[in-house]
Amino acid sequence: EDAAPDLTGVTPFMAQYLTAKASQPDAILFFRMGDFYELFFKDAEVVAAAIGLTLTKRGKHLGEDIAMCGMPHHAAEGYIARLIRQGFKVAICEQMEDPAEAKKRGSKAIVRRDIVRVVTPGTLTEDSLLDARNANRLAAVAVRRGRAAVAVVELSAGAVDCVACEIGDLGSTLAAFRPSEVLVTDKLFSDPELKGALDGSGGVVQALASAIAEPAAAGTRVARLYGVASLDGFGTFEEAEVSALGLIAAYLETTQAGKVPALSPPRRSGDAGFLAIDPATRLSLEIDRTQRGEREGSLLASIDRTVTSGGARALAERIARPLRNPVEINHGLDAVEWLLERRSLRRDLRDGLKASADVARAVSRLALGRGGPRDLAGIRSGLTIAEGIAGLFTVSPDPLTGPPARIAGCLDRLTLSPEVARLMLDLAEGLIEEPPHLARDGGFVKPGFRPELDASRALRDDSRRVVADLEARAVAESGVPFKIKHNAVLGYFLETTAKHAEPLFRAGPESPFIHRQTLAAQVRFTTVELSELDAKISQAGHRALAMEGETFEHWRQTVQALAMPLQAVADALAELDATAALAEWAEEVGAERPVVDDSKVFAVEAGRHPVVEAAVKRAGDPFTPNDCKLDGDGVGCARLSIVTGPNMAGKSTFLRQNALLVVLAQGGCFVPAKSMRLGVVDRLFSRVGAGDDLARGRSTFMMEMVETAAILTQATDRSFVVLDEIGRGTATYDGLAIAWACAEALHDVNRARTLFATHYHELATLEERLDHVCNLSMKAKEWNGELVFLHEAAPGAADRSYGVQVAKLAGVPPAVVSRARSVLDRLESEKAAQGRLDDLPLFAVAEPPPPPMKSAIDEAVAALDPDALTPREALEALYRLKGLT
Ligand code: ADP
Repeated sequence: EDAAPDLTGVTPFMAQYLTAKASQPDAILFFRMGDFYELFFKDAEVVAAAIGLTLTKRGKHLGEDIAMCGMPHHAAEGYIARLIRQGFKVAICEQMEDPAEAKKRGSKAIVRRDIVRVVTPGTLTEDSLLDARNANRLAAVAVRRGRAAVAVVELSAGAVDCVACEIGDLGSTLAAFRPSEVLVTDKLFSDPELKGALDGSGGVVQALASAIAEPAAAGTRVARLYGVASLDGFGTFEEAEVSALGLIAAYLETTQAGKVPALSPPRRSGDAGFLAIDPATRLSLEIDRTQRGEREGSLLASIDRTVTSGGARALAERIARPLRNPVEINHGLDAVEWLLERRSLRRDLRDGLKASADVARAVSRLALGRGGPRDLAGIRSGLTIAEGIAGLFTVSPDPLTGPPARIAGCLDRLTLSPEVARLMLDLAEGLIEEPPHLARDGGFVKPGFRPELDASRALRDDSRRVVADLEARAVAESGVPFKIKHNAVLGYFLETTAKHAEPLFRAGPESPFIHRQTLAAQVRFTTVELSELDAKISQAGHRALAMEGETFEHWRQTVQALAMPLQAVADALAELDATAALAEWAEEVGAERPVVDDSKVFAVEAGRHPVVEAAVKRAGDPFTPNDCKLDGDGVGCARLSIVTGPNMAGKSTFLRQNALLVVLAQGGCFVPAKSMRLGVVDRLFSRVGAGDDLARGRSTFMMEMVETAAILTQATDRSFVVLDEIGRGTATYDGLAIAWACAEALHDVNRARTLFATHYHELATLEERLDHVCNLSMKAKEWNGELVFLHEAAPGAADRSYGVQVAKLAGVPPAVVSRARSVLDRLESEKAAQGRLDDLPLFAVAEPPPPPMKSAIDEAVAALDPDALTPREALEALYRLKGLT
């Protein structure tokens, strides 16, 4: 696989470096040298430029200067974080032995080094490198036999998901997970059909060799990752799913350098279980990110009242992947309602959760060998809190019905198994209250926990006391003002000034003071007793450290072995937090429980836009609630509404608000509305015409049409579509024609529930032409010559567009406004003279197409008699036909 580097004539050190580099050619290599990480060659230049390190030189390679830069090892994490954020991968090459060890093999021997990990966006587990409130996921995409699959691993939670879907649905399936890194094969990487789906995922895309995704090899790798003989025990997988899981397994093998994370078996969920929301729709609705990529201002940020980072991640997941099955959705709603009704329980629950550490991430760090004593303390606090919270519920059991299924499920998971309970006790007894981050320096095991450890520590500390006494004795015996000091090279020594040391040099061989070192102003001595004590102290210290190391390792392994039940506890806490937070939010904003069923109804009474409402209220204005009724079957109300009204009247807000209510309802959240009935939606689409989107800098009209095409091919009679000013990105008649045809197709063919905002007032005539269309308009009125927006959606088309009034409102100079008014008057009177829209050539009945021309190919085909051909002649005929095109 990896090209072996040419090592002729290079130093052993350089050979070691080049070999390590060649094994991870596309990663930046951090090469550990003593207390520093050094970067060489191109890596040094790239990194120096990317994050502003100073570039220096070190020696020569093949006659050229070697570029170098570096940093102290303890400062590396911050630099690595910045590099990862810029899309780099970083390979960490550590010293695998003490330099003294290497010296034993010969004076020229170099320290053994190995790559211990490759840091990539999708495999991070460090708190300092992660956003606590966002799940960090690594995804892989594979296609086999015309079917696609997405596999996703969240290392911090040990969760693995697997979704098989149609190739056309890859975009929405992938985007639902918001991966930070996406693995694909070389082949798919360059497949133009997948470009949209991969780009839309928001993750860094990494291409791996296509061979890795071959099902047989992939299956073996996945089985190895789980330490099982075959995957059969996990259920039946489609080939594409195995391929995708195989990519993940291969990537974890190389990036984690053999360390196996604790993973749950792959959770298979057909994409049929979830509301499909494609990347363009997510962007346009600003579900968990605004269009600028920020969390603030998104739907998620506006409803998030969670108090733990695990809870925040669980809530994000609910909103990013709403469900599709009314039964499951109602389970979620039951739980929110139950906690909404129990205020004091909810308050106690939230108070209890507040203190909880991020157990999920602590477990995964420990399992991957990156955790420390502080992570153990996090687990301890999480478990203690879990017990306390389980207690809250048993204190006040509901005598009538008991908690709903989802809450009961959480409580089940909070019941600690005997092994987990033992670990908790062990940590309570053995681990100090506030342990350090790293196990390296010890000092985290409580006194009294291990007698041998106490003995070594006592020896170390007693001897230190003896050393302190020894200073006084030495001073008394010799009359020299000695001070006892310690450093790493000499250990303990007696130090005095050169002047005071003078007599000691003249003393005879019987003098107890042995000279060790002379500095400019100081002279250092030892005694037999002191050096014996020194040895004793350092031995005892080493022994104590080793014992603490063992204790840590024992705990670490216990955590690793119990990773699944520990993650289950973390999951339950997270779900309780998310549920209580939704209840809290519902109470705060007056949200109501939606009725979700299998109908095709969409009926909202007095709905509000959760984000715009908050913004409008902050500005001190009232928000106007709006009704919206659609029915896929067209019973009692329309299937498609054409929404007109002047700019700034609130059309986009109205459209998005209704789409967001779908997301919330199917995410199992209460909705900001007086009431809502929703027949579950299978796919949600939202598109905004290109006009608003100049910032994206693509050929915007083309983009708009590509995205519109996706709706027309994918929307079903269960889908919900909002289209805002589609067709605006081109000339008026083109745009009107396209908007018209799209509306017709959505109504007749897709039969999706649709809100269609447009400034082409001509579309209002569709109400008369089609069975299930109604017009809505956002009301505005002129008052004292000023335009007032009522933000009210009412039946009927807007009578006029008020464009000129809006221009005035926007501060266009009065002369221009008045000129515009007179031009408008003229145009309108001319149009009136021209007659109704139907008379425009565009909407006249299409002329019958001209009779088709017979082409040379048609004639050649007509002349063929397939029954009379030999296979060979058939092939030749095919070549002839090909030649005619
Ligand atoms: P349009 O799409 O018709 O141009 P928008 O939906 O962008 O209009 O709304 C413009 C502004 O009007 C919003 O930013 C918001 O401040 C305000 N607005 C919209 N809808 C409402 C409403 N229902 N209640 C109060 N203010 C609203």
